This record gives sequence, structure tokens and C-alpha cells, in this order.
Amino acid sequence: MLAGNESEFCCALCDVTMRVEHPRTIVIGLDSLDYRLVERWSLAGELPCLRQLFETCPTVKLSTPSRVLQGTVWPSVLTGVGPGRHGLYLQTQLRNGTYSLTDRFADHVRLKRFYQYMGDAGLRCGLADIPCDSPVTDMRGLQVVEWATEFRFWRYQTVPRSFARYIRLHIGENPMTTHRNSGDSQESHAELCASLETSIRMKAKLGRHLIGRKDLHLVFCVFGEAHKAGHWLWKYFDETHPDHESSPAVLKSGVLSSYKQIDRALAEMLELVTVDDNLIVFSDHGMQPAYRGEHLIDLILEKLGLLEYGERPAPQTAAGSAPRLSTRARQRFINAKLAVKRRLPQAILSGLNRNKNSFPELNWRKTRAFSLPTDRNSHIRINLRGREPLGIVDPGSDYESLLDQLEAALKALINPRTGRAAVEEVFRVRSLFPGERAEDLPDVAVLWSAEAPIDEVSSSQLGVIRHPIRELRSGNHREEGFLLARGPNFKESRGAYRGHILQIAPTLLHLHGLAIPDEYEMRPFDDILR
Ligand SMILES: [Zn+2]
Repeated sequence: MLAGNESEFCCALCDVTMRVEHPRTIVIGLDSLDYRLVERWSLAGELPCLRQLFETCPTVKLSTPSRVLQGTVWPSVLTGVGPGRHGLYLQTQLRNGTYSLTDRFADHVRLKRFYQYMGDAGLRCGLADIPCDSPVTDMRGLQVVEWATEFRFWRYQTVPRSFARYIRLHIGENPMTTHRNSGDSQESHAELCASLETSIRMKAKLGRHLIGRKDLHLVFCVFGEAHKAGHWLWKYFDETHPDHESSPAVLKSGVLSSYKQIDRALAEMLELVTVDDNLIVFSDHGMQPAYRGEHLIDLILEKLGLLEYGERPAPQTAAGSAPRLSTRARQRFINAKLAVKRRLPQAILSGLNRNKNSFPELNWRKTRAFSLPTDRNSHIRINLRGREPLGIVDPGSDYESLLDQLEAALKALINPRTGRAAVEEVFRVRSLFPGERAEDLPDVAVLWSAEAPIDEVSSSQLGVIRHPIRELRSGNHREEGFLLARGPNFKESRGAYRGHILQIAPTLLHLHGLAIPDEYEMRPFDDILR
């Protein structure tokens, strides 16, 4: 329970003359809470609040674009459209028309967020830490961006700005706002556990403040702490993980603790949700061991004869290419690229500097396919004529047959640890996600099998390719999310349903009687709505 009289939070920012007509909508996002872990720990009695919700609400298993491009989930939640339309999938993306990498921020998405449609209709929203969001200064209500999220596409800001002062005075300074590096030692990970616990307590307090106000039609509050715990602490509880090591209880139970603390926070927030409110609790996708073969992708492309190294930095616009790199230089390049990738999840947004990273030293006259930065799946870009400065692959049949060749070669790779395929799926991203921003995306995404570590792969075509590597983050995402809902507009049912993350935005508009915008790609969750 929280100390003090919460009505004192009704400050100058609260429209005390206004009392929202029911039903309000309360959305609590549990970023990257894994369904399988939630199920296991709920049944074991560790997560009583979530267990009670599962026992009383319809459960929707959510499909997401995470299987293809995991960074696209939250921009899709915000805009109701897929990545081919919003164009944001990672903090570091290729700048179209160049061979330069550039940092991308939340404002790379130029589409209207669902809550802006609500604002246009005169509805007031209280938004806390929706990932990949940026401040909308003319919105009605309150907005908190990047106070405590797992990854940053903006800097910490509030709307109105005075709300930040209010949060500092009445809730506190969240240690995750300035958290930049989760480290690689048990000491740093123990510090992370303490910061996450503090952050969850503070987020519950902020959530209670928003739900306790009477002037908001929608409250949307997201917990990112279990996301961080899943990435960094996975190895401590998963005894089958190759980096599992003996560790103190605080680390061994780090992931479970973050789930239990969030469950308690959820219970505290639900105390303020009335029977007249609609409630949605959801997780956008899950977590599993971080097994993948991304570190092998450049070696594979090189062996396939699709990628050649040069000696000088690549030209940024049309110009000549350069001779090949020596083996040492090539290894230097691979190491540098991996270092960039390791840094990605910790990318720092200080003052929104748009850093321009120069792209690999490749011989563009002979390179047909090259890899892009990623935080899980391998991302491959085709050196397409007319799109890339020195493109050599013709659009049409040349492009399609190259994708066929890549898919066949990748799917034939075996992980000797299992004797089974090392690659689960090869996605043709532009076909899956068409739209005006499709060129912002990789052409191909490679989903590696996460059933076992991948130190080497082999096939009759490529022989053995070996390059063991240790991942700093021992957990990474899997696709499945889930959603629970109750309230006057939802069916009272314990049924199991299937849905998609793109149905969240239209459902929120529908709950408030608003038309579904033409650009939205999916309908509301009709199966669970009355
Ligand atoms: Zn993540």
C-alpha cells in the first residue's frame, strides 16, 4: 500500500472541475512479460494478481511483428499499422540512398498515435512510459516519456513540462531514468536488480496517481522493468544456459522477483480500478534464451559470394570501390560490427545527437547482400540497383532469385549441437510489410532457432562455419504476447482467443465510441467485446 493521502496528488495539473463519465479505460502494459513464465509462476502461486485475472478474464494470445522485426512492436501499438507504414524497427537504421547508418528516434514515425485521435475527440489521456513514444505537446491530459523504459527512442520528458517537477517531488527520481549500462558483472547486475525494484514501486505510484485522478478518460501505463530483467538476468535462473553461473539469491531469482514485484504493483493499481472501468492488461511479446547465429551472418554471406570486403571506407554516394581487405582487417571489421551491436541495446540518447556511423568497408561493386545492425534476428539488405548508391542487383527477377538463393542456403544450415536446422524462418520483409516506409526496413530477416546456442553451422553447400561468441544479454525475445480484459464493454468469459497487437489501437478507439481510422490495418478485438 502507498503512504500518504493520494488526493494530495490532485495538483494544479488536475482539472478538478471535470469528472470523466464512465467507462474509463485503464491499460497496463507489462513489457516483455513472458507468457510461459507467467503461466508457470502463476500456477506456482507466485503471481496471485495475474493468476486471478487469468481465472476471471478472457485471455487473448497475441501475435506480433516481433518474430520478424522485434523492435517494431511498440510503434505498431501506437499507430495501428505495421512496420512497412511506420518505418521504425531499431535504434540504428540505414539512411536510405546511402551506405550510412543513422540513429533513429521516436519521431521517425510520422503517423498519428491512437491517443491523438482521442484528444481530437476531446478525451483526456494519462500516458506513462509507452515505449517508442515521443511527447505530443498539444495533447490533452498528461504524458510521461522515457521515465523508466528498457530502451530509449527519446529522452525523459513530460507533457506538460511541469508534470516532471510534480513526479520528482511526489514520487521521486527513478534510477532507471539515468540507467545507461547494465554491465557484465554480478555486482552490476545486483545493482540493476535494486534499481528495477525501486522503479517498479515508483511506477506503481505513478500508475495509482493517474488511475486515481478523475479527469482522465484513458490511463495507459507501461512497466519496462521485467523487459530489462529478462535480457540481462536470464542466465542466472536458467540452469541450461551456457553462461549460467553460481550466483547469490538476488540474481538467481532476479527475473522472478521482477515478475512478483510487477504482480504486486498491478494489484495496488487495480485497487483503484472500479467495476465501471474497462481494464486491459497486456504483454507485447515474450522472452527466451538469447541463442542466435547473427555473429555468423557476414561469414555466411561472404562464403556465398554475396559480400566482398574493400580496403577504404565505403563511398557515401556514387563513386569507385576499393580493393579487398586482408584477413586481419576483415576480423577487425567483424569485431567492430559486433561491438556496435553489443552497444545497441544500451544506446544513449543524450541531447538527441544524431550520430552518423560510417558503414562497413565493403566492395560495393561486388557486394550483392550485406547485413545491417540488429538486436536479434539477422537483417540483410540487398544492394539493389536504383535504391543503393552502387546497387548491382536488378529489381525484379534478379532480386527475387537472390532471395530464393539466400533462403535456401540459410534454411539448409544445421546446428551441430541439435542436428537440426539453425534457422527457423527466413522472412521477405518488403512482402510481409508493404507500405510507404518499406524501404526503411531490411529486405530479409533471419529468425535463428533459439533451441540451443549456435557456435557453428554447416551445410553441404557451405561446409562448416564456426565463430563462437558470448552474448552480453543472456535473454532475448520470442514472439508471443497476451492480453486480458474485463469491464462493462468486455464479455465475462474465461475463453481463450487469438488476436494481434495491431488490434489494441482500434479497440481503444472503439471503447470510446470513435471511428476506426482508414489507415488502421486491423479491427478491434471483436471476439471479447460485448
Ligand atoms: Zn528487448
